[in-house]
Amino acid sequence: MATLILHPGKEKSVLRRHPWLFSGAIAQLDGRARPGDTVDVVSHDGRPLARAAWSPASQIRARVWSFDAAETIDHAFFKRRIAAALARRAALPELVGQQGLRLIHAESDGLPGVIADRYGDTVVVQLTTAGADKWRAAIADSLQKATACQRIYERSDVEVRSLEGLQAVTGWLHGTASGEELVIAENGVNMTVDFVGGHKTGFYLDQRDNRRRAAELARGRRVLNCFCYTAGFSLQALAGGAREVVSIDSSGPALDTARRNLALNPQLDAARAIWREADVFAELRTLRASGERYDLIVLDPPKFAHTAAHAERAARAYKDINLHALQLLAPGGMLMTYSCSGGVTAELFQKIVAGAALDAGRTARIVQRLQGAADHPVDLAFPEGEYLKGLLLQVD
Ligand code: SAH
Repeated sequence: MATLILHPGKEKSVLRRHPWLFSGAIAQLDGRARPGDTVDVVSHDGRPLARAAWSPASQIRARVWSFDAAETIDHAFFKRRIAAALARRAALPELVGQQGLRLIHAESDGLPGVIADRYGDTVVVQLTTAGADKWRAAIADSLQKATACQRIYERSDVEVRSLEGLQAVTGWLHGTASGEELVIAENGVNMTVDFVGGHKTGFYLDQRDNRRRAAELARGRRVLNCFCYTAGFSLQALAGGAREVVSIDSSGPALDTARRNLALNPQLDAARAIWREADVFAELRTLRASGERYDLIVLDPPKFAHTAAHAERAARAYKDINLHALQLLAPGGMLMTYSCSGGVTAELFQKIVAGAALDAGRTARIVQRLQGAADHPVDLAFPEGEYLKGLLLQVD
């Protein structure tokens, strides 16, 4: 096994159990390693620190598998880590029995580059790093045995793989498609999961609790759901007794799925759902110009900043939609607003929204801070894991 020697002082972040080793931290690689191979990580004076996956193409040159420098990284290692992740979820009552559940949340479950989501009897895996890619067979086998799911599908077609020098990979790792649509129930609402062509692994599981919150707040209200995707928040709002739900997305296929999802729920009053294929930035202005008012608005946009370097441009976009949404709220109305940009911290996001309220001329109070569900934990040593942050605001 090759040895990765760090520059003096660069062991500090490893000792704080941060799993990423950037190129600037590395003095030299002693020996040969191919992408994804396990390397020993040592300080400049040879002190063993960790075992990590080598990724020469990436700025993050290595990602730590184990902070126990003597732990063997093999099939059994992945079996142990996956079992531990499942046990953590089994100990959280709100996660038990969920048909849609994130089983593995990458770094925060001790498995950098590994995402696994279960939808009924299908597990969808996404491998984003050279290390994770190398251990595909062990990961798939361990997941299959631990969950007893008969179908494991790989959705490793995310752009970040190119930073690791990896091509897109999709297809069945275990079992095959049976042809029928995959449907899960979330908070009592049926939702299709397009794990082959949908976003992420097919569904935004991270918003489960927040969609439930939207249901609680929706009774008797006029609701506007911006960036609705397949209507997760919209259908929850209808289930919660909304008077009307207007849903906006720029994607025609997403709205087609949204309508299909509504049809899968005959208990909901379809006459209360209005769909708009439009750009949210423009549509918010149009709605304002036509004098519309809403009691509850959801803003769950896509990632505007992929890294901190794009934070400024992202900040302008967040401010714009929040400003216009706040102006559309009726007196006493509520805004659920999110950022899933890793480069925008919770503190910065709050500042942006505060600036938007000021410019909108609305007094707003935070009544709740919102975050991802418990199956998307954040390892304290890895604050980058806290990508989803939100605010529930109430305006005067
Ligand atoms: N809230 C959703 C997830 C939103 S994903 C859920 O709970 O499932 C973000 C969505 O924003 C995608 O469906 C994408 O098509 C849409 N989108 C991206 N840019 C947009 C824009 N400028 N205007 C409208 N929709 C946009």
